[in-house]
Amino acid sequence: MNKADSEHMLGLLDEINYKLTENIENANLVLFNTCTIRETANHRFYSQLGIAGNRKKQNPNLLIGVGGCVAQDKKKWLQTNFPYVDIVFGTNNIHKLPELIQKAETGTKVCEIEEELPFDLPELPVIRQTKVTAWVNVILGCNFNCTYCIVPSVRGRERSRTPEVILKEIQRLAQEGFKEITLLGQNVTAYGYDLDPNYSKEKATFGYIPLDPQYSLAKLLRYVHDVDGIERIRFLTGHPFHVTDELIETVSELPKACEYFHIPMQSGDDIVLKRMARVYSVEKYKKMVEKIRIKKPNAAITSDFIVGFPGETQEQFLNTVKTVQEIEFDACNTAAYSPRPDTPSALWENQISEEEKNERLRYLNSVVNEVLERKNKKLLNSTVEVLVEGASQRDTSKLMGRTRGNIIVNFDPVGSLHAMTDLIGQIVNIKITKTNSWSMNGELIIDN
Ligand code: SAH
Ligand code: SF4
Repeated sequence: MNKADSEHMLGLLDEINYKLTENIENANLVLFNTCTIRETANHRFYSQLGIAGNRKKQNPNLLIGVGGCVAQDKKKWLQTNFPYVDIVFGTNNIHKLPELIQKAETGTKVCEIEEELPFDLPELPVIRQTKVTAWVNVILGCNFNCTYCIVPSVRGRERSRTPEVILKEIQRLAQEGFKEITLLGQNVTAYGYDLDPNYSKEKATFGYIPLDPQYSLAKLLRYVHDVDGIERIRFLTGHPFHVTDELIETVSELPKACEYFHIPMQSGDDIVLKRMARVYSVEKYKKMVEKIRIKKPNAAITSDFIVGFPGETQEQFLNTVKTVQEIEFDACNTAAYSPRPDTPSALWENQISEEEKNERLRYLNSVVNEVLERKNKKLLNSTVEVLVEGASQRDTSKLMGRTRGNIIVNFDPVGSLHAMTDLIGQIVNIKITKTNSWSMNGELIIDN
């Protein structure tokens, strides 16, 4: 979501003639699009902000702007402690960026934080970083109240864009040659429910699924599926509570919908889940996995996990480890619990020490890696379908792409009748020759 916002910021900046530079020495403006999901993200930002501040001592005309979730959360603190910051703008003000920069150019300090998104979500210009895959925001904000999470307070409550507006954007992307669309939202599986005529904000706290919804992610997937030129569709990030039968059936039925479900579980222990206010049990999550795998045995199911949540016992932590082994996820993002300002669990007294959290994290990561290695090994010598995105980051003589399950595959284009660049944007078959935990290598299968 943060990267997608940055692409819109680039589009907005282009309208007032600011271009991206690779060389920070030449910059007239340094703009931070911040994340505050964990304290480490904040630390990284503050150290970079200090460096930008020093740069400004040498070049007093340099403008420094801060947007994103730290700005939304800490506007006063930023203004008082970092007087060299010229522009502070929140997550609901991105569309105002050109105006704010132009004001700052005249020497005025500007700070704009809106608590709510504008009623009509504006269509924003965009400069995308790739030509093959595109992110499209479909729903902003989150209605849950997970006790560890700062997202609802910095991103607000759920607001879906209408299917008409989304489809217009995707049709344009198809015309420009994009092949894969990722529908984005902090809680993408709740897409559309707030567009329902009977929707009320009060009803929607802690999750809500209307009976017979007029709008849903499943219905949106069907509309996007009809757009010529788009070959793959994904969605990110889902919540287990909203993974409906309609969604599972739709994904398994539509050929362009990738059977890739990133549905964070967060913990494998019922007591911890309850204290996190996740509104599902381990059993319920496992039932969801079973349903998906019955429909699509090869579906990739991936998750996020938090270790060291306040009060998490060793036994409860080991329940998470056991669940990762049992479910055999296709990838897991893991993190040590980080207390966030103004979230309930940050105030609880039973915090786990940093040492213990890191120890649990190391252990869980080793288990995740084992599971992934074992799972990926099964793909050795098999043929997978890969959408080619561009040159491999590690070795530019190679190309990289992703499987339908979102695993990165690096391969040698040797033997192809096409120039390397012609393969970008194509779906090709790759024979897997080497597997790692998080990526694979392969050979292009040439079909004449
Ligand atoms: N809406 C998604 C997650 C969005 S936040 C969901 O409900 O799962 C992305 C991830 O950041 C979360 O899945 C969680 O694992 C992690 N995260 C959020 N708050 C955190 C915190 N306080 N400490 C550690 N990790 C956190
Ligand atoms: Fe945060 Fe996700 Fe919970 Fe919403 S559902 S509060 S974004 S963890």
